[in-house]
Amino acid sequence: MFLKIKKLKNFQKFFLIFSYILSAIIAALVYYTGGTAKVYANLMYITISTVSSTNGRKRGVVHALFSSLLVGPFMPLDVSSGEAQEPQNWLLRMIIYVTISFILGLIYDYNKKYETYITDILTHDSVTKLKNMQALKQSNVKCGEKVIVSISVKGYSEMVSVFGCDFTYKIVAEFSKILKSAFLDYNGIELYKHEGMDFIFILTEDMYSENSNVTEKIFEVVEKISSESLIVEQIPIYIEIATGIASLRKDEMILEGVRHSLMALEHAKSKNIKHLVYDKSLESHYKKIQMIASSFRHALMNNDIKIASQNIYSSKTGNIHSVELLTRWVTKDGSRIYADEFIPVIEKTELMSELTKHLVDYAVEGISKGKFKNIVSINFSAVDFNDSVMEYTISAVRKNNIPKNRLQIEITESHFIDKKAIYNYLIKLNSMGIVIAIDDFGTGYSSYQYISELPIDVVKIDKSLIEKIAVNNISKSVVKSIIDFCKINNFTTVGEGVETKEIADICRDIEIDYLQGYYFHKPTIL
Ligand code: C2E
Ligand code: CA
Ligand code: CA
Repeated sequence: MFLKIKKLKNFQKFFLIFSYILSAIIAALVYYTGGTAKVYANLMYITISTVSSTNGRKRGVVHALFSSLLVGPFMPLDVSSGEAQEPQNWLLRMIIYVTISFILGLIYDYNKKYETYITDILTHDSVTKLKNMQALKQSNVKCGEKVIVSISVKGYSEMVSVFGCDFTYKIVAEFSKILKSAFLDYNGIELYKHEGMDFIFILTEDMYSENSNVTEKIFEVVEKISSESLIVEQIPIYIEIATGIASLRKDEMILEGVRHSLMALEHAKSKNIKHLVYDKSLESHYKKIQMIASSFRHALMNNDIKIASQNIYSSKTGNIHSVELLTRWVTKDGSRIYADEFIPVIEKTELMSELTKHLVDYAVEGISKGKFKNIVSINFSAVDFNDSVMEYTISAVRKNNIPKNRLQIEITESHFIDKKAIYNYLIKLNSMGIVIAIDDFGTGYSSYQYISELPIDVVKIDKSLIEKIAVNNISKSVVKSIIDFCKINNFTTVGEGVETKEIADICRDIEIDYLQGYYFHKPTIL
């Protein structure tokens, strides 16, 4: 764009100079062809329209005056007889030239203004009035050593769903106001607005050096906003901030630096870290993610996605009560990619539904052909709550005549963003005799009220709580209160991640119904 603007300015200058020279040539032509009585003076329209339509009103009118003087009072009507022009003749011509220049120049100036207005809209964020990524792209030049700091408020989309767009925009505007005012006095800092609630600072390298007060100030502001709150329309809004930092070498384009800092930022967010500095190993992490996304379909078709089962035992009788099916990716070279690694990636693609349907098939066929004698439990992701997967599951259960309470699905509470939609699906599945289990209960998302309103049969207590019950009395009493709540609501309970006899004994003492974990059985590929 800047190159284009430069080209445009050269183009304007060229037409201006060219038109002045051409006007002088035309005047000479008028003189040597015998004066203004001949038609050649009309050629001047070419130059006056060229200047005003490429340089605007002011330059156009000045050039029109110049041209009309060239063929004005000193230019004879007839050179051979020396007859002069009547004053009203050249005056009228001057008025016509100026009027044409003025009108064409006005159109040019208006278009120019409109273009500036549109460019302004396209290069600025409408909420914060800060320059946006488009503006940054336009300045995509090598600009020396810089440091790029991306700042993001976590949970923007949740904010939109809780507060609505208008109020969230007010939060964004307030946040940007704080950032702007904190760095107003620093020269050489540029602040850009990225998507949602992401902002990008561009600093010079020396500003960022370790003892630089600018960097300290950025972290200080981030710390202050995170620990206090944003006040928007007298409502205190608690926010969490993450930052990603990347340095830009002299020969690198600024967008490359921005990409690195955003990569570090995303990583900081996913790992719950406040600040993260970009390094090359992040690239290999994202390459692995890309590899997962691009080769999963092939792996699924080639049977590289294996199904493992882990038995779940009754704490009273020690008998097998159910099996949970878990997926494993075994690559051709024998290495394994764990579910924790690939499930979050494929959840972002439609491949997740394919995997879930594959597990549904495996479970219902296994039940109907007698491969599984107990309840079979499969994990559903939030993205599986759509008509396609739900209808597939229901029809598979019907077609294979699966008896009631033989198929179980496990869901986590993080699924319940759209509670009403999930509720309707769960009611439908439950009415088909499918058992519904809440997975990972006791982690960040847990809400007692929430699950007591849903058609739930089983609560699986997360391994992070279970593994602590032998050493931590608080965890033990948290688990006890979960069990009391489940008893009141008629939910059966499963303790996950039981790794030792000691933990298994405590689980029995506090009357957890069923137990799952390495102590009893490790998942084995079927
Ligand atoms: P999850 O549903 O909580 O599954 C239990 C995880 O805990 C399994 O890990 C299992 O191997 C592990 N585990 C079992 N007992 C113990 C123990 O005593 N100690 C410890 N430390 N871990 C134990 P896995 O197979 O790696 O799966 C991880 C997560 O990936 C699962 O957590 C589940 O959320 C997800 N996942 C696995 N397979 C599928 C699938 O087919 N579909 C979906 N949607 N999610 C899946
Ligand atoms: Ca599970
Ligand atoms: Ca679990």
